[in-house]
Amino acid sequence: MRSISIFGATGSIGESTFDLIMRGGGPEAFRTVALTGARNINRLAEMARALRAEVAVTAHEDCLPALRAALAGTDTVCAAGQAALAEAADRPADWVMSAIVGAAGLVPGLRALRHGGTLALANKESLVTAGPLLMATAEQYGATLLPVDSEHSAVFQALAGEQKQAVERVIITASGGPFRQFSMEQMRAITPAQAVAHPNWSMGQRISIDSASMFNKALELIETREFFGFAPDQIEVIVHPQSIVHALIGFCDGGIMAHLGPADMRHAIGFALHWPRRGPVPVERLDLARLAALNFEAPDPARFPALRLARDVMALRGLSGAAFNAAKEIALDHFIAGDLAFLGMAEVVETTLARLSRENSLQIAATTLDDVLDMDHLARKTATEAVKSWQQGSKA
Ligand code: NDP
Repeated sequence: MRSISIFGATGSIGESTFDLIMRGGGPEAFRTVALTGARNINRLAEMARALRAEVAVTAHEDCLPALRAALAGTDTVCAAGQAALAEAADRPADWVMSAIVGAAGLVPGLRALRHGGTLALANKESLVTAGPLLMATAEQYGATLLPVDSEHSAVFQALAGEQKQAVERVIITASGGPFRQFSMEQMRAITPAQAVAHPNWSMGQRISIDSASMFNKALELIETREFFGFAPDQIEVIVHPQSIVHALIGFCDGGIMAHLGPADMRHAIGFALHWPRRGPVPVERLDLARLAALNFEAPDPARFPALRLARDVMALRGLSGAAFNAAKEIALDHFIAGDLAFLGMAEVVETTLARLSRENSLQIAATTLDDVLDMDHLARKTATEAVKSWQQGSKA
């Protein structure tokens, strides 16, 4: 029987993964090693009961009594905290979904790779923060890393059977989010409630806001570079409001292979679950006649500076990805809390990168997890100071 673990089971990707596992036979077809969540204890317990999970872990120690109570009478072992998450990742499983949001997903992902199984990677922040380390760990332990982001799954699928040296360019699409047609003036007044409403995809709060600011696409540019190893100038972003084409590969003979699919993450998750074979996935089938038109336009770098910042990170590499992601997470926390403007997020990230770059902290190649975690810590501190400066500037 195939064994699985889901890190971030209670989130949007976690729910879609759970749905596919249940449809695929649930506990009769899969042995569930670990399920993890953070604050949504009732849902974590429901899932653990349904899949008869061996361990259920919450990221927060204060949630442990509630988790234990909700799983009373079952054989599921309950645990809490970051160390418990890492220990859950130490338990071997054939297929592991990495779907914790943010840099918190890095350590469990790295630890899970050490079993040499398959890591389905939704947590793009791990690749942005520690791409070379993640790829080297997968290679060292003979593990398979599969992309779950829809664009990267699309690139992976479009590259199947192709020669990498024949690839001229890789184009990932962006929906453009809810503010694609907003003026600069309108963008100055965007609220978190507006930013969370994505036109095409149903996702977690943080990635939805990142999509609206194009920080999500910025992370994905870096993810493309780290996962597939293409040079930064080979990777392009095109705005495609319908979110039907997820990525395109341009070859040296002028031909382009495109990957199309509905805006439903269960396609990419299902692909990773069935890989290396293809298996049935219950997503809506595209009706091209009804769709009628697919539009494409260039992204606007003035209104969406995150893409330019990602290009800087791709050029610098070293620890700049860790700094970029950490600063973005701090800026996002403040935007959600209502004390940083939507456009202020990019300013905070840019200021953080500039300060750390002046101190020559970014160019150092990350060789260990400690290097990455130290930079994550330093960049969060620097970004918090940048938020304070921004707040003082906006009051003046
Ligand atoms: P959600 O916010 O919906 O879910 C996040 C999950 O992580 C939840 O299980 C949450 O627990 C848990 N979590 C939150 N904070 C912590 C923490 N500090 N430590 C451990 N666990 C934590 O996110 P999504 O499912 O939208 O996204 C997950 C990942 O997948 C992200 O990296 C995102 O970029 C990526 N992704 C998402 C896509 C989507 O369509 N949603 C598409 C492509 C990639 P709880 O809910 O119990 O608090």
